[in-house]
Amino acid sequence: MSTNRTFTMIKPDAVKNGHIGAILEKITAAGFKIVAMKYTQLSLRDAQEFYGVHSERPFFGELVEFMTSGTIVAAILEKENAVEDFRALIGATNPADAAEGTIRKMFATSIGENAVHGSDSDENAAIEGSFHFSGREIY
Ligand code: ATP
Ligand code: MG
Repeated sequence: MSTNRTFTMIKPDAVKNGHIGAILEKITAAGFKIVAMKYTQLSLRDAQEFYGVHSERPFFGELVEFMTSGTIVAAILEKENAVEDFRALIGATNPADAAEGTIRKMFATSIGENAVHGSDSDENAAIEGSFHFSGREIY
């Protein structure tokens, strides 16, 4: 995957609260092109693997339980400087600290249930994108 791509998930809280359309609108209005997208649900094993880097953190159990609690939207997004620009668009991990107008400020409810995921590096964007999508699902 090239470095102008990032990976996102609209998390179960935002899906349950009916924010899929509004979040996709914010993403596309900010200039990101959707190159892959699916509506799906993570299994326990999926979530443990996807968030494996956090396995020793005290919130890991809670995180896995939440991320498997409902359906999500997974997508690969393309834009110049995608990883950094998307992290700016979503805002801080804790919505209480997120800047006005960011997706987490608008749609997240807590640090755990924070509406969206955004890759934190080009390397992780590539790993996370291929976790969810095969080559022929990326356009
Ligand atoms: P994400 O990786 O989902 O985009 P992030 O990069 O902003 O979020 P990370 O540090 O990677 O934050 O944490 C991954 C996820 O774990 C967070 O999005 C949040 O859902 C959850 N999390 C992080 N810190 C806490 C915490 N202190 N308590 C509960 N959940 C947390
Ligand atoms: Mg992260």
